[in-house]
Amino acid sequence: MDKIIKDFLAEVNERNQNEPEFMQAVTEVAETVIPYIVKNNVYYGQNILLRMVEPERVISFRVAWIDDKEEIQVNRGYRIEMNSAIGPYKGGLRFHPSVNLSVLKFLAFEQIFKNSLTTLPMGGGKGGSDFDPKGKTDTEVMRFCQSFMTELFRHIGPNRDIPAGDIGVGSREIGYMFGQYKRLKNEFTGVLTGKGISWGGSLIRPEATGYGVVYFVQKMMENNGTGLKSKKVVISGSGNVAQYAAEKAIQLGGIVLTLSDSSGYIFDSEGIDEEKLKHVMTLKNIKRERISSYIKKYPKAKFVAGKTPWEVACEVALPCATQNELNEKDADLLIKNGCVCVGEGANMPSTPEAIHQFTNHKILYAPGKASNAGGVAVSGLEMAQNSLRYNWSREEVDAKLQSIMAEIHQSCLYYGKEEGYVNYVKGANIAGFVKVADAMLAQGVV
Ligand code: NDP
Repeated sequence: MDKIIKDFLAEVNERNQNEPEFMQAVTEVAETVIPYIVKNNVYYGQNILLRMVEPERVISFRVAWIDDKEEIQVNRGYRIEMNSAIGPYKGGLRFHPSVNLSVLKFLAFEQIFKNSLTTLPMGGGKGGSDFDPKGKTDTEVMRFCQSFMTELFRHIGPNRDIPAGDIGVGSREIGYMFGQYKRLKNEFTGVLTGKGISWGGSLIRPEATGYGVVYFVQKMMENNGTGLKSKKVVISGSGNVAQYAAEKAIQLGGIVLTLSDSSGYIFDSEGIDEEKLKHVMTLKNIKRERISSYIKKYPKAKFVAGKTPWEVACEVALPCATQNELNEKDADLLIKNGCVCVGEGANMPSTPEAIHQFTNHKILYAPGKASNAGGVAVSGLEMAQNSLRYNWSREEVDAKLQSIMAEIHQSCLYYGKEEGYVNYVKGANIAGFVKVADAMLAQGVV
């Protein structure tokens, strides 16, 4: 078995040189899915995984725009259309200086499995740019978004490819891009998700990823005979996913101790309650300040510069910032300090070594493709509402989100149960794979 996996990875690596993040995501899937393929005649010999790792289409383009000083700036835009076997391409757009082909291909690849797990008909895609919205004025962000969409619009559509937000792309950026798409196409369609409520958005979409992570964590803990109530929760990030993961964790009785950004973390030993979290939302979403400003209003809390929050003792850890933000040393520290459950809000935040530590120590560990699938699930519900020209209530969307997260948990149990332990990585990868692989087999070699 090891040889089959090794040969497969060598072949993929040969074709995707200098793409470490992409290879990391492929390796994790190959290690759990290849043994399953070998045992199942329908998939064996069909080169299904080799077909899945090759994007159906990679689009790369120039984004030229003019800043407030009237200087011309140039960024690079991308869209990776990875797999459309079970539905139109679906996945977010990321605006961050670290964006490159490797990062977007890893995200698009993970998205295939995640979207399949949601039970909704969505293929996998991802896109973005190396543009950094931080420190830019609203008009600069608008001009960039308009220029980005002026090329992207010809590749997307409500039945072809439906982008959404991700790091650096929130409601402001979605608004500017939607406006430009509508102007270019002269049609009002559900081509993007994460739209404002008054112009086609879905209730609960902003909350969906963070809420979904906590619903999933609650399911994992219940399955182990506990729950979130009174548990100390450590969260990284302070963006969209982190904020709503914190909100739901607080609502379910967890004690949220930390939030962070790329400059460090805040630790509030009294717990970040709903009122303090509201202040964080104003700081981050309206004033666009750094998380360190938190201590100006709450001086009993401390700001730890240049560090990640994994050194804080907790029972539950929710990495909600970015890829590879939690390494082997962090995992060891978390386990040593009593952590029993890790639910990923971000995509691939734990390094492979950290994941091995979690599974070796039989810690409850949910990979992002399962635990953060709530965001794209509600994006799928936004698409459904746009097609119906109808809006569901907050309660209806939340109930559907909860039931989707419960179904994903069930699928992970079905494929991931081992002697006295649930291997959620194996469960999520195989459950996600089966649906897409069956569709690919039915559709022939295309
Ligand atoms: P936001 O842009 O709203 O927030 C990102 C947060 O992560 C910020 O606090 C940011 O800090 C921090 N961060 C980003 N890069 C780094 C870094 N290199 N080191 C430390 N901190 C960093 O993004 P989201 O909350 O939307 O996304 C967070 C994660 O969740 C990503 O991995 C994304 O792919 C994933 N995700 C998001 C979904 C969504 O619906 N939005 C859906 C599923 C997954 P700073 O401001 O300093 O950069």
